Amino acid sequence: MLFDTHAHLNAEQFEEDLEEVVTRAQESGVENMVIVGFDRPTITRAMELVEQYDFMYASIGWHPVDAVDMTDEDLAWIEDLTSHPKVVAIGEMGLDYYWDKSPKEVQKEVFRRQIQLAKRVKLPIVIHNREATADIVDILKEEGASEVGGIMHCFSGSVEVAQECLLMNFYISLGGPVTFKNARKPKEVAEAVPLDKLLIETDCPYLAPHPYRGKRNEPSYVKLVAEQIAELKGISYEEVAAITTANAKKLFAIK
Ligand SMILES: [Zn+2]
Repeated sequence: MLFDTHAHLNAEQFEEDLEEVVTRAQESGVENMVIVGFDRPTITRAMELVEQYDFMYASIGWHPVDAVDMTDEDLAWIEDLTSHPKVVAIGEMGLDYYWDKSPKEVQKEVFRRQIQLAKRVKLPIVIHNREATADIVDILKEEGASEVGGIMHCFSGSVEVAQECLLMNFYISLGGPVTFKNARKPKEVAEAVPLDKLLIETDCPYLAPHPYRGKRNEPSYVKLVAEQIAELKGISYEEVAAITTANAKKLFAIK
């Protein structure tokens, strides 16, 4: 059993062959996945998918790169959708200082408003962080995000930052980069973070693991992430699969 905690099967890259992608995921042992929507079209499509497939759940929020586009109506719409039983988290949200479409101050405000929303509806949050670690940690602390906790999605930081996130009630989620030959930090994090605080994800269609690096990613490849973590921790693949799945079900309150 595997749980892909971060998949964008709602992306246009899967329009042509979604059924085959889903079949391959199930054949690889993927039992559940969370489809992440981060703007109007991707949230709408995520909600369609969770209606259609029993084993899919949704996380819905607003991406920091597009923070400048988010309206009050968008945020109210997201809050309304959280009453749907298959919406299990808010996000992805956070800060992205790599792209400069949205000014930092706007990103921070949109991030804070989504944390506040998550606390109102009592759902965990999914954090996107690109080159913004210090500001993310500050805002999570200032907004009291530990009350809901959540996921540091596709974590790429140091062991020290990972430990700081654990103290704030967050899980560390590892994806394709942990399998890259030259990825030092994700491998150190996989070794250092206790298995009961780790999650696995693909972030498909992005960040395909080795040996598919550079190609379209898909949920079946989450198995390669679990295998890499097992090797780094010196434990069995079955144990990594079972514990990370149990962690995800606990966080998302899935029976
Ligand atoms: Zn994502």
